[in-house]
Amino acid sequence: MDKIAVFTSGGDAPGMNAAIRAVVRGAIYYGKEIYGIRYGYQGMIEGDILKMKSYSVSNTVQRGGTILKSARSMEFKTKEGRKKAYEQLKKRDIEGLVAIGGDGTFTGAKIFYEEYGIPTVGAPGTIDNDLFGTDYTIGFDTAVNTALEAIDKIRDTANSHDRVFFIEVMGRDSGYIAIQSGIGGGAELVMVPETLTTIDDVVNTLTDGWNRSKTSAIVVVAEGDEEGDAMTIAQKVKPHLQGKDIKVTTLGHIQRGGAPSAVDRILASRLGLGALEGLLNGQVNVMAGVINDKLVYTPFGDAISKDKPLNPDLLRMVNILSI
Ligand code: ATP
Repeated sequence: MDKIAVFTSGGDAPGMNAAIRAVVRGAIYYGKEIYGIRYGYQGMIEGDILKMKSYSVSNTVQRGGTILKSARSMEFKTKEGRKKAYEQLKKRDIEGLVAIGGDGTFTGAKIFYEEYGIPTVGAPGTIDNDLFGTDYTIGFDTAVNTALEAIDKIRDTANSHDRVFFIEVMGRDSGYIAIQSGIGGGAELVMVPETLTTIDDVVNTLTDGWNRSKTSAIVVVAEGDEEGDAMTIAQKVKPHLQGKDIKVTTLGHIQRGGAPSAVDRILASRLGLGALEGLLNGQVNVMAGVINDKLVYTPFGDAISKDKPLNPDLLRMVNILSI
């Protein structure tokens, strides 16, 4: 395999640049030609593909976002779209791909391989940490730290005014950001999609807190919680907490941006190089991951479909530590 292309796809995550850099520098180290595809699968379809040199990734290890841009491509979900993408790669003799993205990205890569035989190895780039086959995904640590910084600031004002704050963090299907930022931020309660916390539970926990002389409270809510988003939950709780000043803050896309943390830069460098080396060693349709500090490869099918449950120990801890 002499010509390889790298791209980022789906939601962006801090550390993607460090991963791109590792793929580009690794490929050059092994004497390969390396191309960057801009805008994910959409750029592949449109031929937005450029040759990369070692200096193409200079001064990027510390930058958030993705220098190759990202996109969600509806066209790649169609047979015609994938045919166009294949033709663009064939025109340039590109024989293998490194995809940095989440489950949708790997689903697309798997289908593409089944149709056209172009192998892809993935690096998990998503702040949600929802992929099986790696302890952590690229961007998760930075997102947690960003959420934590915001929670710390909100806690000051919650405390000064004796307020209850519902803080919504990202996580449509996964409570990883919520649980980690909730524990780190000393939340009274964390609501995640994986376990049902009812409105009664919320009311009881907060009331118990006041009965023990607490004056303010922080509830961290993952956006995909079963009871709704933070605003909906706050509205449901309000009638049961007469006289309490309830506020809602949705952290939103700030969790996606910013300079990657040290943990994310190192993880992204390892996973980017790991994905490239896997591809060069003949791996196909697998995702590079780090489990117990060891680089491992997991088939896309498993990475996408297998559950990565939250550590029940962490959920248990919230209740004990917020007493
Ligand atoms: P994140 O977890 O951050 O959302 P992701 O990789 O899961 O990242 P998606 O938008 O789900 O993000 O997927 C990225 C792209 O992968 C899609 O825009 C689409 O082009 C491609 N893709 C997803 N699912 C399929 C599919 N079933 N067939 C072909 N391509 C797909």
